[in-house]
Amino acid sequence: MRISIVGTGYVGLVSGVCFAEMGHDVSCVDVDEEKISRLKSGEITIYEPGLKVLFDRNWREKRLHFTTDLAASVSTSDVVFLALPTPPGEDGSADLSYVLGVADQLGSLLRGYTVVVDKSTVPVGTAEKVEARIAASGLRSGIDFDVVSNPEFLREGAAVADFMKPDRVVIGASTERAADVMTALYEPFVRQGNPILVMGRRSAEMTKYAANAMLATKITFMNEVANLCSLADADVDEVRRGIGSDNRIGNAFLYPGLGFGGSCFPKDVRAMRKTAHEFSYEFRILDSVLAVNGNQHARLVNRVVERFGVDLTGIHVGVWGLAFKAHTDDVRESPAHRVIEDLLDAGASVSAFDPEAEVTSRTVLGDRITYAADLYEAAAGADALFVCTEWPQFRRPDWSLLESLLKNKIVFDGRNLFDPREMAAAGYEYFSVGRACVPVEDGCEGISAPELAAAA
Ligand code: NAD
Repeated sequence: MRISIVGTGYVGLVSGVCFAEMGHDVSCVDVDEEKISRLKSGEITIYEPGLKVLFDRNWREKRLHFTTDLAASVSTSDVVFLALPTPPGEDGSADLSYVLGVADQLGSLLRGYTVVVDKSTVPVGTAEKVEARIAASGLRSGIDFDVVSNPEFLREGAAVADFMKPDRVVIGASTERAADVMTALYEPFVRQGNPILVMGRRSAEMTKYAANAMLATKITFMNEVANLCSLADADVDEVRRGIGSDNRIGNAFLYPGLGFGGSCFPKDVRAMRKTAHEFSYEFRILDSVLAVNGNQHARLVNRVVERFGVDLTGIHVGVWGLAFKAHTDDVRESPAHRVIEDLLDAGASVSAFDPEAEVTSRTVLGDRITYAADLYEAAAGADALFVCTEWPQFRRPDWSLLESLLKNKIVFDGRNLFDPREMAAAGYEYFSVGRACVPVEDGCEGISAPELAAAA
């Protein structure tokens, strides 16, 4: 098939590369001329494990093209995907201006039957709006089209694996013809039997929000359990194992930390809450999820303040991790950035290291922090180390080198990467999420977990 992908960001580029890998002729369109010229010259624009190999092959074999020319791309395509931004508006609703703006241009460009696919995360009823805009934008007589909702469930950091072997494919279609085209397109990706779920367009649109809101709720629930564990002197790791082994609950998304971030969960939870309001329904759980999540990182920052004082002037903190999670360079709504902003506000200086997210962080944090070349440089001369992202290389550092570099053996671990008992045995004051502070042998200068929690 000839496929256009309009919007060549995370979702657009990954989708385009993966469809090309299945033999389709793919044209990726974007308004960002610099991005397109880099991609055209064979330079990949995002970091995503496994993407470069597929990108290189399909670019070399000329199944993958990049252009800023929407008209040329769309008029020769059988399927047009919209992988455009849907950022939160001021009231939390999804801003549909990118999606509808492109829909307004499509009508006059279609030359034969075309399936237009909403891959962006969009609220209930958007497919109908897109359909109306295309029909009203100079559609030639006799040209047929369908609008399909095909939400994307890929996870940044595992996007290629998720796209190539999805748990399920959701297709919201209003005609059998469109459903057949989409099923044919996705069949090669589900050869091991994972389902292609054909449903109504509104259900498909709702499915995406419900999935993200459910996952955000699960993370937040576990963060609340962790917060309670630290008050009650229980260990959230033990509790997690205790509940995760229950088949009805499962182990995924039970890891407490600094709160969820990224480009999807925060905005999608807000947008779902807004949709509920529009239908005069108060989705109360989502209010709580957002409130708890907004404060989760601050609980560990409070430990820094308790340890060093309210005014952190003169305190230098080494930070490990800037990305909102491991295996990505994405820093949108990153909890690491929230931690850093709070530390800077309190007067601390920060030196941070992230294996992939320095460039993206520079655009947000600028030169307000220093960027270290590796994890040890970030720790050099630091009064304390703060772990913000769960990159695998942070899990087993060279402790003796680290000890020689840190000014104090104090670690604030926002990802629970280390074992509290081992840290205490090694003489570290160690603060994590929902686990007791084990006193170091010569008397923990840190405070016991219940005391800490009471002070928070
Ligand atoms: P992104 O910001 O990475 O990419 C969007 C791209 O669209 C950018 O390259 C931008 O330049 C381009 N663009 C903007 N206006 C355009 C126009 N008029 N014509 C052509 N291109 C245009 O966004 P993303 O993370 O890929 O997200 C896209 C959609 O997919 C959003 O709705 C998002 O919620 C959803 N989604 C994202 C993820 C994720 O992990 N990032 C996962 C699932 C769903």
